[in-house]
Amino acid sequence: MTPDARAVRALIRWFGREGHDFPWRNTRDRWAILVSEVMLQSTQVSRVVPYYEAWMTRWPGAADLVEAPLGEVLAQWQGLGYPRRARNLHAAAGIIGEHGWPDSDHLTDLPGVGAYTAAAIRCFADGEAVLPEDVNIRRVVARRFPGGWPGTPRGRGWDVGQALMDLGREVCSARTPRCDDGCPLRTACPAADAGAVHEVTPPTRRQSPYEGSLRQRRGTLLRTLTERGRAPVSSDPEAADSLVGDGLAERRGRSLVPVGWAALR
Ligand code: SF4
Repeated sequence: MTPDARAVRALIRWFGREGHDFPWRNTRDRWAILVSEVMLQSTQVSRVVPYYEAWMTRWPGAADLVEAPLGEVLAQWQGLGYPRRARNLHAAAGIIGEHGWPDSDHLTDLPGVGAYTAAAIRCFADGEAVLPEDVNIRRVVARRFPGGWPGTPRGRGWDVGQALMDLGREVCSARTPRCDDGCPLRTACPAADAGAVHEVTPPTRRQSPYEGSLRQRRGTLLRTLTERGRAPVSSDPEAADSLVGDGLAERRGRSLVPVGWAALR
């Protein structure tokens, strides 16, 4: 066995001891994995847990969500941010309900499912040896396996994917990597041995300032819509246009109403 293959085995053993027991780790259901992954996009794990549990209690399958008016779906999403994700989930549920799940190579046909989320479904629901390469996993691989991922042991795709998620988030983090504080990949880690851990951090996308941004104003307007049922377009015409463009709201004269509101009332 090569040193890198031994490192992967050590990572799996570490996950067995230290891995977290998030609710989406107790299922291999594609729908549950899709919901969790969409929620985890841009939202911290600790914030997602209660939303995920409430959502899955209310709509445990795609067929349940299809029946729900979009206004209710958006109201349930309230507080998670980026409500376009809820609309995409609702649309994806409709497609799955009508046509069934796409095969593995066509998961990105579903609204809101990009290459990362498709890989996560294949890894965490289907157990395939596919790495869902988010920024955390890319950072671990870049530091510990600069020549590329050495391969996943047969049947351990789920464990490896989850282990890398936890390791990248909590041990091999961007700012404060804990190389000599229990990292299971420390032996022969090229970045740590060279004292160059921070130099091989993959670049992260810079986020534009949130305060006063269109994203924040969209959220504020959508919150008003879901709480009150309507808002004047003139209160923020640009945010109103953006919500209408994304199909999250529609105009009624000079007012804006959330899509699906009629069904909600
Ligand atoms: S030894 Fe340090 S750089 Fe290498 S994988 Fe572990 S935490 Fe990351």
